[in-house]
Amino acid sequence: MRKPIVAGNWKMNKSLAEGRALAAGIVEAVASYKGCDIVVAPTAVSLAGVGEVLGDSNVRLAAQNMHWAEGGAYTGELSAAMIKDVGCSWVILGHSERRQYFGETDEGVNHKALVALKAGLTPIVCVGETLEERESERTLQKIELQVRAALASISAADASRVVIAYEPIWAIGTGKTASSDQAQAIHLEIRKIVAEVFDASVADAMRVLYGGSVKPANIAELIAQPDVDGALIGGASLKVESFSEIAKIV
Ligand code: PEP
Repeated sequence: MRKPIVAGNWKMNKSLAEGRALAAGIVEAVASYKGCDIVVAPTAVSLAGVGEVLGDSNVRLAAQNMHWAEGGAYTGELSAAMIKDVGCSWVILGHSERRQYFGETDEGVNHKALVALKAGLTPIVCVGETLEERESERTLQKIELQVRAALASISAADASRVVIAYEPIWAIGTGKTASSDQAQAIHLEIRKIVAEVFDASVADAMRVLYGGSVKPANIAELIAQPDVDGALIGGASLKVESFSEIAKIV
């Protein structure tokens, strides 16, 4: 039985004060929700302050990125130990915006995932196709490449701790959600790939999230799909009402 996940990616939004207020509202709204893992990913500068507000609540703290090195001459980067030190137990890796604007590669994402697992963090590894790839029927090819690369050299024992987020790039921040059938079809393919890389039990245990314009109005249909184990949410995670409503439905 896979425990669903509702994860909010705040991206480059919210000041420290706004982030703390949002976190306080979420903590209060979801305090009684035991059925899913609830995670928020504020900006790097707000991690410590938001972490303080989360305290020992049922809402976990995630970083939006990290570097694979332990430390040293990597201007602007944060190590796994650093994000753990400020309270993170989760980390988002390889978001399409990081791949698109900051040149992140499949190899780099894999390197980061290996380091995150070793540090005891739960990595949410993002994969997804562009509109052009979908229209030219290259979706599966792209997803297979990204998933296999992300999981390279990860042990079977660690693999079930990896979370994969399927985020079609054409659905991120656009208001266009993949239909529940489209999402289910890709999630099933991801599970098949994981079974090939490891085995059926790892594939069965691995949680696969959907991301792309998730909101209270469409989450029920998405989460009803057998291979959709929750959501990675951008826009709708920036308001207590919409984020907590999604968590309630999940
Ligand atoms: C995201 O950035 O991971 C995302 C899914 O954004 P949105 O929900 O705004 O489409």
